[in-house]
Amino acid sequence: MSSRSLMESLLRPELLASKAYAVAPSSGLIKLDAMENPYGLTDLLHQAWLESLAEAPLNRYPDPHPESLINALKTHIGLPVGIELMLGNGSDELIQILVTAVAGTGRPIMAVDPSFVMYRLLAGQLGLPFVGVPLDAEFQMDLPAMLRAMSEHQPAIIFLDWPNNPSGSLFPEAALEAIIQAAPGLVVVDEAYHAFSQTTFAGRLGQYPNLLLLRTLSKEGLAGLRLGMLAGPAEWIRELDKLRLPYNINILTQRSAAFFLQHSTILDDQAEILRAERERLFKTMATLRLTVWPSAANFLLFHVPGKAAAIYDGLKKGGVLVKAFTGHPRLGDYLRVSVGKPAENSRFLSVLESLL
Ligand code: PMP
Repeated sequence: MSSRSLMESLLRPELLASKAYAVAPSSGLIKLDAMENPYGLTDLLHQAWLESLAEAPLNRYPDPHPESLINALKTHIGLPVGIELMLGNGSDELIQILVTAVAGTGRPIMAVDPSFVMYRLLAGQLGLPFVGVPLDAEFQMDLPAMLRAMSEHQPAIIFLDWPNNPSGSLFPEAALEAIIQAAPGLVVVDEAYHAFSQTTFAGRLGQYPNLLLLRTLSKEGLAGLRLGMLAGPAEWIRELDKLRLPYNINILTQRSAAFFLQHSTILDDQAEILRAERERLFKTMATLRLTVWPSAANFLLFHVPGKAAAIYDGLKKGGVLVKAFTGHPRLGDYLRVSVGKPAENSRFLSVLESLL
């Protein structure tokens, strides 16, 4: 039997039909494609961080439930009393755990469309239908359409990225409340870009039995650590935690996260610069021949009808990597730029202007 026919007889058809998550090569380019924090560490902090890792016992498994780190993260987020936290290898892993928990029920995963691609991808990989409710022409949520779709499809989980990736829109709090109250299943508010929107549903955790919250350290400056957090009522976290692999957060990540939480004002200061740079980018781009949407995150989506591929290539030739959505049914004519350091943003703006 050939590998191909063995694969076809063994693997789920939705896996064979799906595409792997692709990341564009970025060597030598100003990397404005993945919403990373562009700032590294000062030399002094770098040295102190390395020292904090020196005693890490690499011969031992890491603590499967690092209590003091979890408590420090609860304080960092500002969780109400009684709300528990579960750690993931990035919030991607926690989304996978959530979808795995309801796989087999046949009930769909729902999100707005477009939204963070992993919701759809993981639903497909785990054999669940995905319902994407289109955002309106301004990338705002169509609440009546959401409520209708919820009642029609009875989703097991609704993911709401707040602010939304890739548009940067921050849906009204009242719309999220209405969804949480009407939902027939879980609602997961994904606050990956909290550092840039400075908004949160953390204070409402525990008020609704079906509300969970996702956070990550990736966007505020520590993407390389891979540390995501899922917060919610203790009974939910207890059940979901059964799906977590025992040692999913390695010792270097645990130690580093604890170290950076003691220096989090540095990350706050960087986020403040990035928020100001986002506004500068937005204002300047709004004067160019393109449409750009206001964003509460650390990226901007812009519309360049018929020119997205040429501008993407031109920016790359000019040394700047942004995100293209080639082949996407709605976003083919759009590009997304992450906010970088001031000089990187200026370079992006000058190359972009020369291409328009
Ligand atoms: N949620 C949203 C809305 C995102 O945009 C991203 C990353 N692009 C993630 C979650 C995943 O973040 P990570 O796995 O790095 O924690």
